[in-house]
Amino acid sequence: MKHNIVTFVSITIFALSGIIFWDTGFAWIVFIVIAILYITATVYGSFSIRSNYFLKSINSGKRKAIALTFDDGPDPDTTPKILGVLRDKNVQATFFVIGRKAAKYPELLKQIDEEGHAVGNHTFSHSYFLGFFSKSRLKTDITKCSEAISSAINKSPLLFRPPFGVTNPVYATVLKELGLHSVGWSLRSFDTRAKNKYQIINKVISKLKPKDIVLLHDNLKVTADSLEDVIEHCLQKGIKIVPLSQLIEKAPYDS
Ligand SMILES: [Zn+2]
Repeated sequence: MKHNIVTFVSITIFALSGIIFWDTGFAWIVFIVIAILYITATVYGSFSIRSNYFLKSINSGKRKAIALTFDDGPDPDTTPKILGVLRDKNVQATFFVIGRKAAKYPELLKQIDEEGHAVGNHTFSHSYFLGFFSKSRLKTDITKCSEAISSAINKSPLLFRPPFGVTNPVYATVLKELGLHSVGWSLRSFDTRAKNKYQIINKVISKLKPKDIVLLHDNLKVTADSLEDVIEHCLQKGIKIVPLSQLIEKAPYDS
């Protein structure tokens, strides 16, 4: 991954500049500059899933359509509303669920599955500190989410979305060991910051292009309120909405 290349290049420049600048008295300034650049690249890579810095995520589709993805559910207040709109519009989406919510509301997961949508893993805890978890703790957390999904719908998910889009080398190792594909996005609706549905609609409408993976959240009322207009706009523009697995050509479940 890019992280390995950046680390190799940084160490090489570090060593070379040590040799070149050692006698000049400026060596420590050069070392500090290299360290700052390295830390900046690492932090940026951690928070930018689309940079594929630590691991390769699927951030856009392979065909000229788009897919809708919903994170952070299931939620007993808003997920049924979203399912209702999707049903009316005959659109299939993917729900990256939080394991502890999935364990609490298995009937919502069953409904998502029975209505033809896919379910993906979004960790069990969705903790703000996931980026600092040890390998075994992260593996346990992600496994627990897959187990909650399996016990509700009897299917084992293969698609995983890192919470907050944060990745690091520990994620890379754990996802590889569990055989999960990391799925990012190409279009953020910014629904978590939206004050009204029009902000979401405008954001999606102004940016939407074929092959987009659209990031939404099914635990937000404002998202549920905006969904009908968002879908309607896609249809009017002639942009087809397909299931994520079709768009990225990856199976959603282990067969
Ligand atoms: Zn999330």
